[in-house]
Amino acid sequence: MKSHDYIEREEKYGAHNYHPLPVVLDRGEGPFVWDVEGKRYYDFLSAYSAVNQGHCHPRIIKALTEQAGKLTLTSRAFFNSVLGEYEEYVTKYFGYDKVLPMNTGAEGDETALKLCRKWAYLVKGIKENQAKIIVCENNFHGRTITIVSMSTDPDARKDYGPFTPGFITIPYNDIPALEKALEDPDVAGFLVEPIQGEAGVFVPDEGYIKKAYDLCKKHNVLFIADEVQTGIARTGKLLACEHEGVRPDVLILGKALSGGVLPVSAVLADDEIMLTIKPGEHGSTFGGNPLACKVAIAALEVIRDEKLAEKAEYLGRIFREEMKAVKSDMIELVRGKGLLNAIVIRPKNGKEAWDVCVAMKELGVLAKPTHGHIIRFAPPLIITEEQLREAISLIKKAILQFD
Ligand code: PLP
Repeated sequence: MKSHDYIEREEKYGAHNYHPLPVVLDRGEGPFVWDVEGKRYYDFLSAYSAVNQGHCHPRIIKALTEQAGKLTLTSRAFFNSVLGEYEEYVTKYFGYDKVLPMNTGAEGDETALKLCRKWAYLVKGIKENQAKIIVCENNFHGRTITIVSMSTDPDARKDYGPFTPGFITIPYNDIPALEKALEDPDVAGFLVEPIQGEAGVFVPDEGYIKKAYDLCKKHNVLFIADEVQTGIARTGKLLACEHEGVRPDVLILGKALSGGVLPVSAVLADDEIMLTIKPGEHGSTFGGNPLACKVAIAALEVIRDEKLAEKAEYLGRIFREEMKAVKSDMIELVRGKGLLNAIVIRPKNGKEAWDVCVAMKELGVLAKPTHGHIIRFAPPLIITEEQLREAISLIKKAILQFD
C-alpha cells in the first residue's frame, strides 16, 4: 500500500474531525519519524508536545514492555503494587502532597475543575452551585462539553450547546481584567495556560503569571495551571510557571508525562485541596493503572537524567535567533520559550502557512499550522544541536522558496 491508499482508507472509515498533512507515518525514533515509503522527517510537532523525550525512547519502552507482561490494569477497585510507587515519585518530583491520576489532558482539566468546585464549597464556603471559575479567551483545555463551554473558539463550540455554566471569561494577559473579575466573591479558581499553546504559542508579558498568582492569593482563589502542553521541560524549565517562580495551587499535567507512549495525565495539589474529594466522588477505570504508572516514572526519569529542560532552554534560543535572522516577507513574528515556538506567517502570493508546511514536509520537516497563519515548532527535546541546525536549514529553505 502507498501513502494515498492509507489516506483514502482513513477518509472512508474514520470520522472527519481532523485535517492532517498528507503524510502517513509508520515508525519513529528520537526526533525522527518515517513514512510508509521510508522517507525520514524531523518531527517538529512531537504530538503536540507529548513526545518531549523523543519517539520510542528505549528507557520508556523498556518500562512499558516489562510491566505489560506482568500487570496492566486492575481498576481502582483494588490496590496495585505500582500506584503507590508512582504517587510517591510524582508528588516528590513536582513538590505536592497528593496526585490524582487520570488519562487524557481533558480529563486532567475536568478533574481540576471538579476539585476547585469541591474546595469552593467545602473550604472557601461559597454557597452550593454558586462557584465560578475564571478562564481566558483563546484558551485550549480539551474537547469535552464542559471544556468547550469555557472555549471562545467557534469551531470548538458550534452546535455543541447547551453549555456548562459557572465560568467567567476574561482576555488573556490582562491583569486589570483579572483584578476586576476577582471582585466577585463567588470566584473559586483561575484556570490558565502559562503559555497558550493551541492559540499559537502566545507568550504573555513577563510578570503576568506572577501577578495573576498574587492576585489569586489576595482573593483566596485557587491558581490552577494547565501545563498539559507547557509542562515537563518543554519551555526550558520543568514547569513553565517556574519562569516566574510560581507554584500553582492545582497543577494539571498530561502529554509528556508518558513520553507519548500512553494517555497519562495527573492533577497535583496539597491536602487541603485534594482531600476534599472523598471515595466514590471521582475516578476513572484506567487512571493510575500499573502500566501507566511505570511508563510515567520512566518518562520523568528521562527528563531529569537527560537534562531536557536545560536542553530546551539552550536549543530554543538557537531556534529563535536563527529564525529571526531569516530575511523573508513571510515571517511576521517569531515567538516562544524553550522549544515551544511559533512563526506567524504573512501570506504571500496566495501562499499561506499550510503551503509552507507542505514545502517543509517535502524537505523532511513536519509541522502543522494552527489558526491558519501560525506554525508551531516543537521538536522532541532530545534533538541534538547538530540535528536542530540541520532542521533549521531545511525550514529556512522551505520558507525562502516563496520569496
Ligand atoms: N490542555 C492543554 C493546554 C492542551 O494543549 C491540550 C491538548 O492539546 C489539552 C489540555 C487536552 O489534552 P488531551 O488532548 O490529551 O485531552
